[in-house]
Amino acid sequence: MGRNGQPMDDVAHTWRPDRFMVIAGHPDDADFGPAGTAARWIDAGSTGWLVCCTSGDAGGEDPDADPLELGALREREQNAAAAIIGYAGVSYLHMPDGALVNDLILREHLVREIRTFRPDAVLATDPSVIFYRDGGINHTDHREAGLAAVDAVYPAARNPMAFPALARDGLAAHRVRRLYLFWPNEPNVRVEIGATLERKIAALKAHASQIKEPAKLAERMTEWAAEEGEPIGVKAAEALRVVVIDDDDDEGPDLQAGAATEAATRGSGQDAG
Ligand SMILES: [Zn+2]
Repeated sequence: MGRNGQPMDDVAHTWRPDRFMVIAGHPDDADFGPAGTAARWIDAGSTGWLVCCTSGDAGGEDPDADPLELGALREREQNAAAAIIGYAGVSYLHMPDGALVNDLILREHLVREIRTFRPDAVLATDPSVIFYRDGGINHTDHREAGLAAVDAVYPAARNPMAFPALARDGLAAHRVRRLYLFWPNEPNVRVEIGATLERKIAALKAHASQIKEPAKLAERMTEWAAEEGEPIGVKAAEALRVVVIDDDDDEGPDLQAGAATEAATRGSGQDAG
């Protein structure tokens, strides 16, 4: 972040939350999405939690398949992937795959998750994207999950009078300070993921029911990470759109961009923030 909280897109983004929550429509979204960033933050001391709104029970090719069995399989795959990235846990909301709606029921579930885990940052799919700039349509579940995450973060999670039953359950209002939107058409920050790209690929391979060409996966993900890293001159990055809700003097625990930066920071004895 530059001065006045303005993101800068030409240098690696180094702000790091103490606690973060990824909200995804389907199992595997978080791993195709910001898994490299999540692993990087966790390695640096952050605690992460993953919420899957659906269990991906319509993510198959066989119309006769049992959706409950497929959902259970995909939860096992996501649990294995989450262990590779290092999340502290995964919540499944069991909403219907392909029919996710940003309604009060979904928002109350998400507010419950947010007020329970109390993250500083929430990562979710960019709900403003209907058509990807490079082609393709953004799945309706991704748009609805993203919009529900935005609405749950602001204003519901921080409003003590929203969903009063949650407060009566002891879940007090909580202020999420930042949103990070993944798969954006207009990214404004890039997190360097050279050290965690291999883990992102390993986590994706855990979603075996969804990966049709596992041999090509590593190559594809490496190319994608390189494209995202090119504007900041690194081999691998994830591009995100950050929305700062509460800007304050405490810039949070910094994420060192690399050994060189770390040495420079240590040498000067100053916090880079
Ligand atoms: Zn998805």
